[in-house]
Amino acid sequence: MKPKIGVIICGFIEDKQFVTNAYIQSIRYSGGIPLILPLIRSDRMLEEYTSLCDGFLFCGGGDITPLLFGQEPKSGNGKNNITLDLFQIRLMKRVLSSRKPVLSICRGMQIFNVACGGTIFQDISLQPGKHLDHMQQSFSRQEVSHKIFVTPDSQLKKYIGSYLFVNSYHHQTLNKLGKSLKVCATASDSTIEAIEMLSHPFAIGVQWHPESMYRSSPEMRELFGNFILKSATTH
Ligand code: MN
Repeated sequence: MKPKIGVIICGFIEDKQFVTNAYIQSIRYSGGIPLILPLIRSDRMLEEYTSLCDGFLFCGGGDITPLLFGQEPKSGNGKNNITLDLFQIRLMKRVLSSRKPVLSICRGMQIFNVACGGTIFQDISLQPGKHLDHMQQSFSRQEVSHKIFVTPDSQLKKYIGSYLFVNSYHHQTLNKLGKSLKVCATASDSTIEAIEMLSHPFAIGVQWHPESMYRSSPEMRELFGNFILKSATTH
């Protein structure tokens, strides 16, 4: 039986809940069954979602409401949807305590960090020091834009190696790390590009978009493949 992967909706705009196709296709081609999990305001439903699926994918999207990580809005903060934020943060907490595999991408990684008590720089201009342009301007989302350095003793390194080039579509970055998390990749400007949870079978967050690089990058296929494999075997 193929593992069922809950793909949490990426956004909720004009009365439509949606997931971007590349996430669904990456799960499918890696051997999982993608199940889209919509926003429903019910704790009972969060419980049902958590037991229904074998693994969980949190996607990219808009900015998290700053109050949810203890800050008031600063210049550069984008659009927020607190109902979606609370739904995703609550679901993330349940998923993490179930110890089922979870891969979180871009905004998903920020949800992962905030759910563990971490904070976000609301705009990269608020991060101390000089920084790269992390909002790439290329024609295609599968093109790479900057290098990342992967932490030697991380789980992520087993899947993607010591360093590689990734795409970059974020204007926010991680600041304070949440509890039990470690940095597992950084860019040359010290921006946190990936995190993982200590002593968890598979809880990895990446700031770039591996789903957009799926066809061109063996490393990204390896990352998705191991996520699906862990989902099939972790109970
Ligand atoms: Mn980046």
